[in-house]
Amino acid sequence: MSPIRHLQSVEPSKANKGLPEPTYLELLRAGELDRRAELADRHLENCDLCARYCHVDRKVTIRGAVCRTGEHAVVYSHGPHHGEEDCLRGTHGSGTIFFSWCNLRCVYCQNWEISWKGQGRPVSTEELADMMLELQANGCHNINFVTPSHVVAQIISAVVAAATRGLTLPLVYNTSGYDSLEALRLLDGIVDIYMPDMKYGDAALARKYSHVPNYVAVNQAAVREMYRQVGDLLLDKDGVAYRGLLVRHLVLPNGIAGSEEIVRFLAEEISPHTYINIMDQYRPCYRAHDHSELDRSITVAEYRAVLEAARQKGLYRFADGNVDAWLAEADLRCV
Ligand code: SF4
Repeated sequence: MSPIRHLQSVEPSKANKGLPEPTYLELLRAGELDRRAELADRHLENCDLCARYCHVDRKVTIRGAVCRTGEHAVVYSHGPHHGEEDCLRGTHGSGTIFFSWCNLRCVYCQNWEISWKGQGRPVSTEELADMMLELQANGCHNINFVTPSHVVAQIISAVVAAATRGLTLPLVYNTSGYDSLEALRLLDGIVDIYMPDMKYGDAALARKYSHVPNYVAVNQAAVREMYRQVGDLLLDKDGVAYRGLLVRHLVLPNGIAGSEEIVRFLAEEISPHTYINIMDQYRPCYRAHDHSELDRSITVAEYRAVLEAARQKGLYRFADGNVDAWLAEADLRCV
């Protein structure tokens, strides 16, 4: 994969309703975006682009690469997505590009055909750029890279190509949160909105259920770096996000996600203003049935306990509005 040289200067965007333009456009004009693409491309040859640190040459082989992804990104689908958080989907949808493969191995993965089996097709830099421009032309509010950690180099090269051809939308990095600091530093000034999962508060459980070492330390270091780069989530007058950190936390049954440690970390070590989506939609999928403790949905009481722990720690910016109304409705359903 060759980084794309930028061919023309790009005028600052006037498209985003008077908001500050995404900072990658300034990097593009300064030639820094191109330099990052070249640097990231070199990382593929001794890969440290996620916290697996496989150190394989992905231009030659995928043997030894946990993500099974070589020189080209594999894309499962792209399109406007109306199921993301309100502040991402807005009125015209979030412009998702869904990458195949993953650097985690969650036994309860809801997208296992894509993440474990790699359904999708390899795409070139120009094809990836075309997808971004198509999503922009469709009126999407942002470009939302789903499961991007193992394709950081391919994404940066495609952003150079797309920005050169007129991309001006904010870029969302929608990650399972097992990112290397090497990759995140390459993305500094390129990503506008970081949306990491914080999946576990206990490293032993992360190893057991996602087959990943040191998840908690890696994940917390990554979130610190993301916050250093972009700060708290900023919304425009219509409530659509354009910069900052949005954390997702999926509550698992039987306290497996370590939710209390996660909300403590965010409130005390990141910011009490952290915007967080505490998600209730866990359903046992894939190999979850092999683990009796994961083989059910969560209860209202489990969800309520996490929400109360978050509030007690001082968090107050919860995605998708009125969680109290949700809880009242859930209580009624349980009567
Ligand atoms: S992106 Fe991560 S999983 Fe893939 S080869 Fe590099 S270090 Fe390994």
